[in-house]
Amino acid sequence: MAKEDFYQILGVKRDAKPDEIKKAYRRLARKYHPDVNPGDKAAEERFKQITEAHEVLSDEKKRKVYDRFGSYSDQLADAAARGAAGPGAGGGRSAGVPFDFAGFDWGNTTTSSSSGGGSSFRDIFSELFGGGKAEKEPPRPVPQKGADIEMPLALSFEEAVQGLTTNITVNRSEQCPRCNGAGDTGGNPVTCPTCHGAGQVQKSGGRLKFAQECPDCGGAGKRRPPCALCNGKGTVPKAETVKVRIPAGVDTGSRVRIPGKGEGGRMGAPAGDLFIITNVGKHKHFTRKGDNIYVKVPVTLPEAALGAKIEVPTIEGKAQLKIPPGTQSGAQFRMRERGIPSLRNPQARGDQFVEVQVTFPKVISEETKELLRRYAQLNPENPRVVMGLE
Ligand SMILES: [Zn+2]
Ligand SMILES: [Zn+2]
Repeated sequence: MAKEDFYQILGVKRDAKPDEIKKAYRRLARKYHPDVNPGDKAAEERFKQITEAHEVLSDEKKRKVYDRFGSYSDQLADAAARGAAGPGAGGGRSAGVPFDFAGFDWGNTTTSSSSGGGSSFRDIFSELFGGGKAEKEPPRPVPQKGADIEMPLALSFEEAVQGLTTNITVNRSEQCPRCNGAGDTGGNPVTCPTCHGAGQVQKSGGRLKFAQECPDCGGAGKRRPPCALCNGKGTVPKAETVKVRIPAGVDTGSRVRIPGKGEGGRMGAPAGDLFIITNVGKHKHFTRKGDNIYVKVPVTLPEAALGAKIEVPTIEGKAQLKIPPGTQSGAQFRMRERGIPSLRNPQARGDQFVEVQVTFPKVISEETKELLRRYAQLNPENPRVVMGLE
């Protein structure tokens, strides 16, 4: 087999920063992960190469050696010197070469066959390389930040415009007071009820069957007895009344963050955040586009023809609007800074746009009809001339 350049395998430049190498590795690992390509030997082989390349290039010391000798076999020789066989010779790997996938982030991968998230990656990995089955201690719980919570909140049009302070009840959780979030209260490890002490559970991914590390004991086969109060979860449910301040100017889909009111953290880690997602109702007269308000206002024929000062509604009550003489139906007038306060800049606000609609009286007295006939005589215009009609 031709020697392959680790940088080429990962598709990065020789001066790639550790961050770029990590990114490239994650992207490729997701693509070639055996879980995503069940039964595909080529993908599996590629996955090994990617992992190999990443292992060397992500380690500053190993990368220096690799850069100096520019050779893959130097790494093999180095590994052999420490008593490990190469991947081609049975898949053995020195226990002295640490692989830490604890931080592997699946992001929004579409792997559907794996329910265990990051743990399946570790499991597949240990299968590929035949990791030794050493005596394992039950996994130690680690501090873990709580998840965020999203909650919808329906607001009236006016409430969204003016802002609102209200109390809402949030079904969140808090660190378990008995075990302080550890999920267990110490005590001697007992046989894991999930795997009955085997440390592995059978799992099928596509056409393949995997023996995977037990998710509940981390492969140890033993676990400490779970805390009776939180059932091993490390958090207990808590319905809490939370005071929420919705700023003026929110729209449908705005996210208002309430820090620390998400799910509780574990082992002293902070709680997640609460996000209120606002859903703003409609108004009888006003329509909203961003921070601007649109409203249709009826005017009489004389007001439109002769001009007038009329009262129009705004979100802050009545306001005066001047209609110039000869205003056509459908004409739009802008009222500056009569719109909605800007969420981003409390100093600024949108405008209001008024569309006037000329209305006609429904009941017309004989006297009014006479006036209109007189009007027609004085103004013998045909507005349809522009359409080629005479
Ligand atoms: Zn187990
Ligand atoms: Zn507990």
